[in-house]
Amino acid sequence: MPNFHIALLPGDGIGPEVVDAAVKVLDATQQRLADVTLSYETLSVGADEYLANGDPLPAATVERMKQADAMLLGAMGLPSVRWPNGVEMTPQIDIREQLDLFNGVRPIRLYHESHTPLKGYGGADGKPIDFVIIRENCEGLFSERLAPRVPDRDFETDTMKITRHGAERVCREAFKLAAKRRRHVTLVDKANVLPSMAFFRKIFDEVATEFPDITTDHVYVDAMALFLVQHPEKFDVMVTENMFGDILSDLAAGIVGGMGMAPSADIGPQHALFQPSHGTAPDIAGQGIANPIATILSAALMLDWFDQPETVRGARLIESAVAVVMADPTCHTADLGGETSTTEISDRIIAALSA
Ligand code: ATP
Repeated sequence: MPNFHIALLPGDGIGPEVVDAAVKVLDATQQRLADVTLSYETLSVGADEYLANGDPLPAATVERMKQADAMLLGAMGLPSVRWPNGVEMTPQIDIREQLDLFNGVRPIRLYHESHTPLKGYGGADGKPIDFVIIRENCEGLFSERLAPRVPDRDFETDTMKITRHGAERVCREAFKLAAKRRRHVTLVDKANVLPSMAFFRKIFDEVATEFPDITTDHVYVDAMALFLVQHPEKFDVMVTENMFGDILSDLAAGIVGGMGMAPSADIGPQHALFQPSHGTAPDIAGQGIANPIATILSAALMLDWFDQPETVRGARLIESAVAVVMADPTCHTADLGGETSTTEISDRIIAALSA
């Protein structure tokens, strides 16, 4: 019987609360699957680990993570814990780079019309919102954030680095995903201004010729911010560089209920990590009110990625249970205007698994 060993990285803030909820749902799902077991190992990474031991991402912990079949991460970093240059600790970004998790998959789906601030979406007659942002995770505008800096000069720069290798592989993943969906890929860039983005567009167009059955278009990132509010139903798969993907992910989450509704997968050639798109939400940490749906849906993405008939079935079971629970407007966490607690949401999802 295959066993999948999962490294749990709960992290900081609300991270441990949402990971705990997701593991309960995974355990209940496993009981309904034949011939699959899940085992876990909890690893300490993040701002709290830095405060305890002086390193937010110890090398020995990264080695343990590499041994696992997949990683499930909560959230990392705290505004009060910073490096001497003033930036927050972001081991979740370091992990993507160290493990080459270049393919950031961010599905955006509206589960109930009451979750969106937009009119005319969801519900029986409303337009659906159902698209995926593919974010390049290992280069782009984040690429030289750790480069050594000259101290005390009166300017700083950041570099938008796009390599042929990096652009080709992430565009290819976008097309492969679109082939399983509605067969359309939108490139989001700023090719009218930035040479790095014109280069990205050239490579996107080259990769597109490998997928003649898939239609494409190009949208500038500023226009995409507009279109995601005006016509989100028009998009299927979009691919973009690191920083643009970071920003558009939050905007996209905002139109389906907020950060607590946005799951993600960070996938590389050898390793994969699954986590909610949100951060540590220190404003609500420790209160038991965080929305665990994004983490629970990330756990479903992980089961999909294991790619066994039974784990894929488990992913669909979780998604269906989430849809059932989210259809009930009396069962919502505070971010969606309700009063249901984190653990009550996971209990309701577990009950819906059995229904
Ligand atoms: P990061 O930069 O680390 O991604 P952030 O600064 O963008 O983090 P978040 O921690 O994601 O911010 O929080 C943004 C807002 O969304 C906060 O008001 C927070 O309370 C809310 N939020 C984030 N995640 C959740 C969640 N799971 N449930 C409820 N509210 C959430």
